Amino acid sequence: MQLRYSFRLYPNGPQRSALARAFGCARVAYNDALRTREDARASGLPFVPSAVLSKALTEAKKTEARSWLGEVSAVVLQQSLRDLDAAYRNFFDGLKGKRPRMGAPRFKSRKDNRQAIRFTANARWSITPGGDLSLPKIGDVRVKWSRRLPSVPSTVTVVKDASGRYFCSFVVETDPADDLTRMPETDAVVGIDLGLTHFAVLSDGRKIDSPKFLRRAEKKLKRAQQALSRKAKGSKNRDKARIKVARAHARVADARREFHHQLSTELIRDNQAVAVEDLAVKGLARTRLAKSVHDAGWSAFVTMLEYKAARYGRAFHRVGRFEPTSQVCSNCSVQDGPKPLHIREWTCGACGAVLDRDINAAVNVAKAAGLAVTACGAQVRPVLVPAQRVEAGTHRDGQTTVVGIPAL
Ligand SMILES: [Zn+2]
Repeated sequence: MQLRYSFRLYPNGPQRSALARAFGCARVAYNDALRTREDARASGLPFVPSAVLSKALTEAKKTEARSWLGEVSAVVLQQSLRDLDAAYRNFFDGLKGKRPRMGAPRFKSRKDNRQAIRFTANARWSITPGGDLSLPKIGDVRVKWSRRLPSVPSTVTVVKDASGRYFCSFVVETDPADDLTRMPETDAVVGIDLGLTHFAVLSDGRKIDSPKFLRRAEKKLKRAQQALSRKAKGSKNRDKARIKVARAHARVADARREFHHQLSTELIRDNQAVAVEDLAVKGLARTRLAKSVHDAGWSAFVTMLEYKAARYGRAFHRVGRFEPTSQVCSNCSVQDGPKPLHIREWTCGACGAVLDRDINAAVNVAKAAGLAVTACGAQVRPVLVPAQRVEAGTHRDGQTTVVGIPAL
């Protein structure tokens, strides 16, 4: 399977200028090619093939207007054309219904938040004996290697993010069969409900909220955004505030990724099988819940669960979103209809179990995936109402799972 590894890069002054030039050239190569295709489309001509664009790029370098394209590695420019091809492919596949619909490829701008260039093996990039990343026409850039690469990658992508940080990222092929990091087998299985009141609720009754470090980063971001909105347009201070917002954004993204990594690793380590509801985030994202859906970053988290499960030999189940997880009692499986969102807890009319909406959903997710979870203590808890109320309830089979302890 393929895994992506990213590391922070620390280019010096001249290297930063060279990278800025490379980002700029890659952008121009991309935009020129996009314009060629769009012009052809506008005049009713057939789709311009990649080979033609590639040849046009080589010709353009000989002209005075575009001679500076020769200052960067030719591979970077060719990869930029590949990116354009990929953008078109995704767009066309979306139109054909092969994948979610995407917009047509758009022109890149110097003001884009993320700039990236890619070097393939042809570009003869390398990692120096001293551990620097040696990039053609840029130099030997210092890298902070936070993890060991499992194998030698052939391609490196260099990225500059919105807050001005540089990263290099590698896609590495790993073979799960000879992965030495396999985790010991366990009998435990878990269903996960990704909710709005908590980040995740587990079928064992645990409710997980985002950690303090993430909430703190989010609070700082909010303050930075408010400060920005108070600055006059076009002022120096506004520019400064904008950079602060971008940095705070990056910190929130980092903190969120860190939290997702921690939680997904823990769940995969502790369980042999993991079941999660298919979110169809795209559908939810159009509703008023959109903001919290995006903030929670569920799909990124689910993706992590999935690849870690594959990596460590665990089973991963995605349960269709049409399973009525909130309508069925996870204890006796009787379906008693939908409940409005504000109802967080109810008593099952059939078996009398007191059901917590989120935990009930998590147990149902696990069951729908065929995992043998038992409605545990946290799921079916004693009712804290006077005993006779419980006895007055309907007990279809006379079996009382719930102990009617009178409130003391
Ligand atoms: Zn029930």
